[in-house]
Amino acid sequence: KKNTAKAYTDDVFEKVKARSPHEPEFLQAVKEIIDSLTPVFEKHPKYMDFGVLERLVEPERFISFRVPWVDDLGNVQVNRGFRVQFNNALGPYKGGIRFHPSVNNSIVKFLGFEQIFKNSLTGQPIGGAKGGSDFDPKGKSELEVMRFAQSFMTELSKHIGPDTDVPAGDIGVGAREIGFMFGQYKKLNGGFEAGVLTGKGLEYGGSLTRTEATGYGVVYLMKEMLQDKGLDFNGRTVVISGSGNVSIYAIEKAQQLGAKVVACSDSDGFIVDTDGIKLDTVKKLKETGDERISEYVTEHPNAHYSEDCTGIWEIPCEIALPCATQNELDDASARQLIANNVIAVGEGANMPSTEEAIDVFLENDILFAPGKAANAGGVAVSALEMAQNSGKISWTFEEVDVKLQEIMKEIYQKSMNAAEEYGTSGNLVIGANIAGFLKVADAMIAQGV
Ligand code: GLU
Repeated sequence: KKNTAKAYTDDVFEKVKARSPHEPEFLQAVKEIIDSLTPVFEKHPKYMDFGVLERLVEPERFISFRVPWVDDLGNVQVNRGFRVQFNNALGPYKGGIRFHPSVNNSIVKFLGFEQIFKNSLTGQPIGGAKGGSDFDPKGKSELEVMRFAQSFMTELSKHIGPDTDVPAGDIGVGAREIGFMFGQYKKLNGGFEAGVLTGKGLEYGGSLTRTEATGYGVVYLMKEMLQDKGLDFNGRTVVISGSGNVSIYAIEKAQQLGAKVVACSDSDGFIVDTDGIKLDTVKKLKETGDERISEYVTEHPNAHYSEDCTGIWEIPCEIALPCATQNELDDASARQLIANNVIAVGEGANMPSTEEAIDVFLENDILFAPGKAANAGGVAVSALEMAQNSGKISWTFEEVDVKLQEIMKEIYQKSMNAAEEYGTSGNLVIGANIAGFLKVADAMIAQGV
């Protein structure tokens, strides 16, 4: 038995550090959770007695595998594949697959760990997982992507299933890659198990609104947060980093609510269009095409392109939505945003703000919505896709959109309530971490050690 909550959490963190010396992103994610939870352990020592934290920080299963494939020139290529099945106290493991050269143990574990709390917050019956590969889809032909995705699934298929583990997309994995993986799974497994992957095409079991869900969800959550202070999106200047699936639909919803989105980016640089981003052009370049965002200026010569990703945070805005990738917004960028009078920041990506940046936002009373709450709309609609698949039914766009709005509202409410209850009123980082934790922890205790 440990005597104090602080000694307990310090002890667990020391053990995680010793076990994961080369996993900075994972340690960053664990530290944030541990810092948030100390008051919970003080109030409810049963979570210490049942060893909930030391169990939570260790994945239930970490699968690492070789992904061999043949490129268009006939050369054999080998990539690394991963799936971390972090926690299934609430339901089948659930979380995306990322294809990006930066993917390694640390990235997959931080994402899988965050997914436990995010998925819990959605109120849906889903556990936490993540997967991916260091395969770089940039510059690869469609056939190379297909051969790679098939090889990736050849191994992954042994570990997943509609009631076991249900992957989806993430960076570098969209409907096309999900289709290739689904086809391969089907070939290997015989039956048509629609519920084994989410984010599928509409023709074969996908859900309406899934494509839009993460981006729309970010804006729905920010809308709740602003509304609480008597504010809204209408007429506000917004900067949204990234130009992938999350950014595109965050831009779309923000524009529908009357905001003026003036900048977005990709991994090479960012564009500023002070008249407001023309979303059709971004969709054409990035959603249906394989072009760089710099091409935007050829169609809109009044816009400006800069080859510097973090420079996007120097563009004055009232609402900033980092929707690109982890640690894209540091403390210097956070200070810059504050100097330019930002009022709200919502994380569309997973862990886009560094620990120091979050501190800067909170110290300056900026309305700050962490990714676990703000970007939970994607996985929430994935759970709705699973529900439709198992019921062999499909809901309309409006039906799913209404459910998504309700879920985002509830996530905001329960995170705010938890923050209030634990004496950190208004702090959505702590509130979301605590609210997400409590449900998982109670399920873990109920199910025994
Ligand atoms: N990759 C998304 C996330 O970060 C979605 C996961 C899913 O739908 O399973 O939450």
